[in-house]
Amino acid sequence: MTPSAILDDGDVVYEPKTDDQPSPKSAILHRHIHHNPITVVGASGNYLELSNGQKILDATGGAAVSCLGHGHPRVREAIIQQMNNVSYCHSLFFGTLAGEGLGEELVNSTGGQMSKAFIVSSGSEAMEASMKLARQFFLESTPAQPRRTKFIARKESYHGTTLGSLAMSGHLVRRAPFEPMLSDGVSRVSACNAYRGVREGEKIEQYVARLAQELDDEFVRVEADTVCAFVAEPVVGAALGCVPSVPGYFRAMKDICDKYGALLIFDEVMSGMGRTGTLHAWEQEGVVPDIQTIGKGLGGGYAPVAGLLIGHKVVRALEGGSGAFAHGQTYQGHPIACAAALEVQRIIREQNLVENVRRMGGILSSQLKRGLGEHPHVGDIRGRGLFWGIEFVRDKATKEPFDPKDLVAMGIHEKGLQPEYNLSIYPGTGSVDGRTGDHVLLAPAYNTTESDIKLIADITVKVIEDFFAEFH
Ligand code: PLP
Repeated sequence: MTPSAILDDGDVVYEPKTDDQPSPKSAILHRHIHHNPITVVGASGNYLELSNGQKILDATGGAAVSCLGHGHPRVREAIIQQMNNVSYCHSLFFGTLAGEGLGEELVNSTGGQMSKAFIVSSGSEAMEASMKLARQFFLESTPAQPRRTKFIARKESYHGTTLGSLAMSGHLVRRAPFEPMLSDGVSRVSACNAYRGVREGEKIEQYVARLAQELDDEFVRVEADTVCAFVAEPVVGAALGCVPSVPGYFRAMKDICDKYGALLIFDEVMSGMGRTGTLHAWEQEGVVPDIQTIGKGLGGGYAPVAGLLIGHKVVRALEGGSGAFAHGQTYQGHPIACAAALEVQRIIREQNLVENVRRMGGILSSQLKRGLGEHPHVGDIRGRGLFWGIEFVRDKATKEPFDPKDLVAMGIHEKGLQPEYNLSIYPGTGSVDGRTGDHVLLAPAYNTTESDIKLIADITVKVIEDFFAEFH
């Protein structure tokens, strides 16, 4: 691998593992223009079959997407039935049984905490919609608060790739090329990251109080009555590698939002829909957000589908105001996407898979900690449910990260794909300002068996040990 520049969400331009060298010309604009990615020719359960015949154990389901593994017969059947029934209609004029069913399933899953669902095709779109909905809430509240246009998000965050959702994101590398095009109406406070954030001798309550003060100060700095919402991931996924907040953190953040009359938006695109051991990540935080975005685990990769769950207060404002959400898209509430997501969610509920997530997560985490806890280059192993991150450091005592140009996470990912391991794990590069280290992320399917979980842990440990044994 030869890094040439720090650029995108592998975060470094590199020579990726490919089918052929040099790659044949492709009509697709792939992420890396000179190299085609490896071709997957089949996928079943937890395994991907590559064009070279390799069978890869999929320990991440893409980026924590394939929550039921690949080729689930019930989801396949639901999609075919929906195809035969209604493949498309415009959501402005028509509703569908699949859409209504999904909405009901999702709202019911919140135990009455949320009022309505809004279905789109990607997490980025969901984040965009959440920004517009928050703005509209304040325009249509009584009295209206038209000065509220800003958002406070967090450093080391990723909320999407479109201009609005990227403006929310604190991911420096992903923002860099587009910085001049991003709204300056979003500011950022520190993420909650116990491994790197808690100071020597500081108690967790003091850490929480410090972060709460930082948020309070930020509201004051930008003028509190101009802020629509504070936006955060309950468990930080791609930007940090499965970092949960410390106890009491979100309670304290919600209190600050309430103090200044701002909304709380949770980005649960990656951490939601069962991934972290409860169907909604907020169930473990003792707070309910006003708006929640959901994505990857919603449709489990069977269709491009994401959405919002919207609290009663926000829906009431629209009901008493214009009576419409001023945000429509061609593929909003797409019937096939809704049918796929509805079946995925029914399977998770009927088979009590969130319980399996907690149980398997316990096994995965203890095996990873046993195998890697003492490794000199493993700084932290953290996560919840079946969402675990391993952060690498050059120096365990000082927590000094590797230089992102060393491509540690990408190297481990590529080592995993070699035929002696046959494992797919998701890499994430540390921040270019040196505040966080490279990490890899594990996110197996919710229905993974104990023997596959143990296999994933064993191979992960071996890949990391072997990578560092050869690393200079
Ligand atoms: N929010 C979070 C927390 C994510 O992890 C992602 C994607 O990785 C997004 C939003 C954007 O979702 P999508 O890639 O589906 O647009």
